[in-house]
Order: sequence, then C-alpha cells, then structure tokens
Amino acid sequence: MAGKTSKDAARLKQELAELRRREAELESSENLYRRLAEELRREDDLFRSMADSANDAVLVLDEQGSVIYVNRAGESLFGQSADEVIGRHLHETLIAERFRDHPVGAFPSHAAADIEDMLGTVRESQMLGKDGVEFPVEVSISAARSGERTYYITSCRDITQRKRAEEELRESQQRYRDLVENLNDVIFTLDPMGRFSYISPTVERISKYTAEEIVGHPFTRFVHPDDLQGLLAGFERTLGGELEPYEFRVIDKDGEILNVRTSSRPLYKDGELIGLGGLMTNISKRKRAEDELERYRGDLEKLVVERTEELEQANVRLRDSERYYRSLIRNAPDMIDILNEDLTIRWASTSAGRITGYRPEDSYGKSILDNIHPEDASEVMEMFDRVLKDPETPQSITVRYRHKDGSWQYHEAIASNRLEDPAVQGIVLNTRDITDRKRAEQELRASEERYRSLVETSPDSIILTDLSGAVLMVNQSGVSLFGYARAEEILYRNVLELITPEYRSKATESMRTKPEEGTARKEEYSLLRKDGTRFFGEVTAALFRNVEGRPIGFISITRDVSDRKRAEQRLRKLNECFLSLGTDPPENIQRFVLAGRDILEADLIRYGRMEKGGLYVFSSLRADEGFQKIANVEDCLCYHLMSKGAGESVTCKEIETQVLERDPEIRGHGFRSCLYLPISLHGEHVGCFNLLDREDKEYTQVEIDTMAMLCKAIEIEEERYAFNESLRDFVDIASHELRHPVALLSGYTETLESHGAESDELTRQEIIGAIKQSTERISRMVMGLVNVSLVERERFHLYKRRTEIASLVEQTVREMRVKVQGWGFFAEVSEGSGEYEMDPDRIHDLLVILMDNAVKYSPEGSDVEVVVEDGEREVTVSVLDRGIGIRSGNREKIFERFYQVEEAQYHSKPGLGLGLFLARQIVEAHGGRIWHEDRKGGGSVFRFTLPRS
Ligand code: ADP
Repeated sequence: MAGKTSKDAARLKQELAELRRREAELESSENLYRRLAEELRREDDLFRSMADSANDAVLVLDEQGSVIYVNRAGESLFGQSADEVIGRHLHETLIAERFRDHPVGAFPSHAAADIEDMLGTVRESQMLGKDGVEFPVEVSISAARSGERTYYITSCRDITQRKRAEEELRESQQRYRDLVENLNDVIFTLDPMGRFSYISPTVERISKYTAEEIVGHPFTRFVHPDDLQGLLAGFERTLGGELEPYEFRVIDKDGEILNVRTSSRPLYKDGELIGLGGLMTNISKRKRAEDELERYRGDLEKLVVERTEELEQANVRLRDSERYYRSLIRNAPDMIDILNEDLTIRWASTSAGRITGYRPEDSYGKSILDNIHPEDASEVMEMFDRVLKDPETPQSITVRYRHKDGSWQYHEAIASNRLEDPAVQGIVLNTRDITDRKRAEQELRASEERYRSLVETSPDSIILTDLSGAVLMVNQSGVSLFGYARAEEILYRNVLELITPEYRSKATESMRTKPEEGTARKEEYSLLRKDGTRFFGEVTAALFRNVEGRPIGFISITRDVSDRKRAEQRLRKLNECFLSLGTDPPENIQRFVLAGRDILEADLIRYGRMEKGGLYVFSSLRADEGFQKIANVEDCLCYHLMSKGAGESVTCKEIETQVLERDPEIRGHGFRSCLYLPISLHGEHVGCFNLLDREDKEYTQVEIDTMAMLCKAIEIEEERYAFNESLRDFVDIASHELRHPVALLSGYTETLESHGAESDELTRQEIIGAIKQSTERISRMVMGLVNVSLVERERFHLYKRRTEIASLVEQTVREMRVKVQGWGFFAEVSEGSGEYEMDPDRIHDLLVILMDNAVKYSPEGSDVEVVVEDGEREVTVSVLDRGIGIRSGNREKIFERFYQVEEAQYHSKPGLGLGLFLARQIVEAHGGRIWHEDRKGGGSVFRFTLPRS
C-alpha cells in the first residue's frame, strides 16, 4: 500500500511542477504579449500622431471605399468631424456627384484596377466640403497591406489658391499674347548674325512671305539694296542705345517695294546681347499719301522663337491638366521626414528616396540643410526657428533641394513642431517635389512678363477696355499721353471720358459697329488730357477676343497727331493765302504777313522794308493802315536789326532790352519772344520780317521753317516790286533819251526845209552831220534794246573765228579817236598778243561800250587807256579812265539790266543802263569774266578776260 501511495505522491509532485512550469511559461508569455501589445499601440500612436500633425488631409479607406480614418487637417478641410465621416463611403460624403463615376457597391473591383493605377501618382480632383462647395485638391494615394486586407491612404492638399493664381496668370498671359497678336504691326527678332529668329505671322499680310519663309534667313535678303547701309547704321545706333525709328524699303515676295518703319532695341539675356527685337510697320500707303506728315509709330519688343515654342508647350500643358500634371510630378507622392531639434534627419519615408535619389537610411543623422540650396538656407533656418518658437502654427516653405545627381529640385515643405508629442518627439516635414510645376510656372511667368513688357514699353498708348468701354488696362505711354501720373487714375473709367464731347457719339457708334467687323480701324479723334487741354489722336481700335474667340473688349492704340493736324492746317492757310494773291506786290506782302500771324498765332508780326532810304512798316496790329513810313527810323527794331546786318534769324533773348524798349510798337506790350528774319535781294537786306510773342517760348523748327517760307515768298514779291520799279524808271529814261535826238532831228529837218536852199554848203553839211549823229544815236539805242531782247530770249548768238586781239583793240581805239573829240585814247598791247577764238563784231561792241562809258563818266581832256595783257590761258583787256569811279556797293549791280548808279529822276548822263549788262553777256558768252576795279589815283578800271580757246 505504502508503495502505491508514494508512487502517487511522486506523480502528483511531478504534475504540480509541470503545472508551475506551465504557469510560469504562461506568465512570461503573457508579459511578452502585453509588451508586444504596448509596443504595437505605441507604433500606432506614432502613425496617428504623424498623420495628425500633417497639414495635408489624410484619409484612410478600406477596400470597400469606406473611410476608416481622417486626420485633423482632413476634418477642417472637409468641414466635417471624424465621427461624421468615419464609417461612411467616400462617395457619399466627399466626392462631388459628377465625379462619382461608379456606384458605391462597385468600389472594390474598380478600386482594385483604378487605385492600383493611381498608386504613387499625384492627381488633381474635386472634393466636396460640407457646405456643398467644391474645391480642387491634389491627391496622392498609397496602399498599405495588413494580412489579407488592404488599406488606402489618401493624402489631399487644397490647391484652390494655387489654381486661382494659375488661372489669373494664364488669363493675363493670354491677354497680353492676344494683345500682341492683335497688333497690326509685325514683331520680329534677329539673332546676333542678323537672321530672323522670330517674326509674327502678320508679316504675311504685308510681305506675302509667310513667317516660316522668313525665319532663319538674314534680314539683308529682304531689304532694298539701296537702303542696306542706312539700315545697318540704324541697327548700329540701336545697339548704341538710341531708340529712334528708321525707315527703309523692303522687297516683298512679288518683288514689289514696300516702305516700312521699324523701331528696334537690343535684346539681352543675362547681360549678354542675344540679338535685336523690333516692331515693323508698313507705311507704304502713308508714304504715298502724306509722306512728310507721318509721324513716328511703333516701338518694339522681343520674342524669340524658341521661347514662343516653350510658351506653346506650357500652354498645352496647362490646357491638358492630366498631361501637364503627369509631367509635373512623375509618380511622386509626398515624402515624410522626422527631424531632430538640430535639424538632423531621424527618419525618412521611402518615397523620399525615390524623389531625392538618396536611400532613406543613408540620410539618417545628416542635417536637412546639407542638400538645401545655399541661397535658401537662411530662409529655411528662419522657418525652423518660427516652428520651434510657435509649435501651434505649421510653417510652409519652397526651397531648392539637391538631388543625388547634383540637379536642383524645387520642394514645397510643411513643417510641424511635434517635439512635445511623446510619440514623435521631432519635427515632421511633409515635402512634395514641385520642380516641374515651378518650372512651368516660371516659363509662364517669363512669357507673361515678355508680353507685358512689350505692351508696357510700347511708345504708343495702348488701352484695353471691356465692351462697354471701361478701361481695364492702360500702358505707361497711354498714361502720359493723356497727361496722367498713374494708370490708376484712368482704370475703370469709361474711355469716352478721354474723348472730347463732340467726338463721343462717333466713338460710341464705332464701338457699336465694331463687333461685326473685327478688323482694326483707324480713326481720328479730338482727345482730352487730364488738365482739359485737347489734342488730336489717331486711334487704331480692334476687337479683342478671348480664347474661344468671343469678343470681350477693345484694344486701342492711340498716337498724338496734333503736329500733323497743325501742319495740315498750316498748309491749308498757306494755300488760301497763295490763292488770294493779286498783282500788286505790296498788297501781296501784306497778305503774307497776315497769313504768318494766323499760322503762327503770333501776338505781333510785322514787315519793314527799305525804299529810297526810308523805312516802311506793315504791322499786324495796324493792318488797316497798310505800310506806314517810320519817322524815327533809328528806334525801330527792324531797322536796328537790319543795320546790324543780321543775316540769320535772331531771337528776343539775343537783343538788348533797351533796343526793344525804344521801339514804340513793342514798348509796354511785354513781348518776351521774338523771331527776326531778314529779307534780302541780290545779297542786300531790303526788309525784315519780325514776329513777337508775349509768352516765353522757344520757336520750333516748324515755326522757323514756316517763317522762312513766308520770307521767301516776300522776297519774290520784293523782286517783282523792284523789277516793276526799274521798268518804270527805264520807261522814263528811255523816253527821255529818245526825246533828245528826235527833237534834234525834227529841228534840223525843219531848218533844212525852210532855209535849205539859201544855206551855204558848209552849213548844209553841218546840219546833215548833226542829223546823221542823231540817227546814229537812235539806232545805237535800238541796237542795244534788240541785243537785250535777244539775250532775254536766249537768242544771243556768237559767230566766232580766230582773231588777233591786239589789232582789234588798236583799230577800235583809232575809231574812238575819230568819233570822240576832247579825250585822249591810247592802246597798250603786249608783244606778240596772239589769236583768239572770238566773235570780233561783239568784242568790238564791247570795247566801244566800255570806252563810251569811260568818256561819259570822266572829265573832258582826260585819257582813256586800253591795255591788252597776254596770259598763258587767257588774255586780259583793261579799259582805264580818270573819271568819277564807282562806289564799292554798286560794283556788282552796274552789270544788271537797266541799272544806273544815278537815280532815274536826276538822269544827268545819257544812257539806258544797258551797256554794262550787254558787256557782261558778251564776255560770259565767250567764257570770260568782267569786273570793275578802282583805279589808283582816281578813276575806274574795267577788266575782262577771254579764254584762249
Ligand atoms: P549807262 O551808262 O547807259 O547808264 P551802263 O550799263 O553802261 O549804263 O552803266 C551802268 C552804270 O554804271 C552807269 O549808270 C554808271 O553810273 C556806271 N558806270 C559805267 N561805267 C562807268 C565808268 N567808267 N565810270 C563811272 N561809272 C560808270
């Protein structure tokens, strides 16, 4: 028995030990389990904490598409609490109805296909807020597997702001682009080799070449060869910084010549010259019509063809958001980093590796700053500083980050301070690679910038309005053209306010009819500046359409054409004046003076003329009185200026005040500006044209030119007047000259008739001699007149033959000795004077004229000498007398027709004033010269030359 009991006890002991062991085992495994559970919870907390700290909304979906988690950012983004969302299907609550392309029940199968496809990509979508308002989001999805189950983790970022900014930028870019393309002018750019790198398609309208046919070819190929030099010089000046436009001719595809005007400016990129950009206007039509009146138009900007292509691409990307965003972020979901307080990386998500090229583990312990662009580092430091100081507010920043391959990426990061969160104890960084988007944005911005600067810097005023005429945009040239300081003063006002009331209905009408036409139209308007002054503007307005081609407003380009208008008015007034001219020169001069007053809007304009030592003035202030003789000549400004011999125009500032004050008409009127122009006839000042203004003004070149033109007209009238006067004198003198021999003739014939028979032979011979002399004198006069008439009609001919000059002179001197008694005639001929080609009869006449004059103007008993000097190329003949001589002022005039030094009314010597005129004609017809010199010891020397052949 005892044996059995001990056996049982041993077994019991054994079982107990076994139980204890198992108990202990159980206990330790329970501990383990508890520990494991604890750890698991902690990990879960970490995840939650990270998800909650993220600034992006994070949603976790199960395989059926029901929400099983939403973080705090998600609650505020969707405007619903976690309780409201969790457990409900995504489609019921957060997806806008039109995007619910598959029913709730079908989610698992679609999700399998679609979501798998979306994994690792970033998409744009529309989400729904609680209030029913849709907003755009950027979504990235990743999948997490737990045993058999799959969870989808969706991170959403509200991109409303960005979308709006993008939209605005795109609109603005489109607006400027349309603006540029709506301009009728041609925009071009040349590369440094002078080849077209871009030309706007509008070129086809003017040159018939398409843009493609031009791009890549040197500009020299299209320019008229005669204008090349000038154009090159123009470009040269442009590079030197001058921006004046220049005109030249181009040859179009059909070989026709076009006139164009271009303004260009150098294009720089990064400080380096990359070519020239310009704006080209076809001015052929204008050229023909109003060449000299047309004003400068058009400046330029740059447009490089590659850039336009880039822009196109950017546009395409924008339009097609899917393609755009695919290229924007290639399969890049966000990355998450946890940083220590010293900004070293403690943990990084695997996506970070894909984006930056570094394996996450390799980056642990390294500073986040290591790969940040040095220029951005300080900004990053400041951002972290803010994060550390203010843990409540997450901070976002965009930085440049170096990829492992050395290239720079743009990262958009949001940092949250979770240092106090026991589960995290670090700074959580959500980062997204936005390199492509940034680049596209930069391109778009650059292109917008280009278009904007093109419009902004255009020298023409460019105004953009909506269809009702409200100003939406005005460039700087427009602001200053209308006399404003800032664009804001014009913006949103109606464009009609810039037009004078009389022209508003025309503008309204034009705006009303424009939508049907569409093409640009040029019209002239009287426009208003801010200060109320008016000016004439040429307005080219065209309809402005949006991307779909719907009219949304007007673009108008305005140019100040006041100068042209004024010039037209001037021309009209001048024409009227010319048409009103009559036959009386002084009256015509008065008309010119008054026309000058009207055209130049002068306060006083007057004309003073010298006649027979007196000064006669016609003043616009006393127009009714006509020309008035001035009593105190010395006081008159005209006289003062004339006697000072001012040959050029003089202005008030150049005249001393006391001179101005002496003139009774000027004194006390407060004239401050003056313009003086002399009128001269054959080199002598005969009058003065004088303009005075009360305001202090600089006379423009146009005004000076107009005055000069009127002066020219007055000069012609003065010449006519002088001619008429001399003609009158001539008639007086001629009748006087004829009367004398005719009286002699009739006296002697009467004597012969009544006493002829009883007279002795001697007396009869004397009478006949006197009759002969008188007839000779008349016939000499008639011959002189005939010769003058021949000269006038250009029928004065020479019959030349080789003649010995010496013997011709000696023979004429012998004749004079016979003809004229009381004077001594001598010839002095150098040895071997040769033969010359000449008309001996004419040269004989010439010698007689000079010797007759020598006799006429020297006292009886004096000598007349003729000297012949043979030269190498010519012979010089001089006729010398001891007479009264000639004052130097008259030396040239004595060779004019009808000119006599002595005034007609005294006429003490016989003669018609024709002798020296004919003498000069004869000499000049032989190719020689004739002039007068004073003779030493008193008297005159008349010299003439004849060339040897
Ligand atoms: P006319 O002698 O018929 O008046 P001319 O044409 O011959 O015309 O001469 C023009 C003027 O030139 C004369 O009126 C006279 O005043 C001046 N003249 C010409 N020859 C002389 C001279 N030898 N000495 C002085 N005066 C002269």
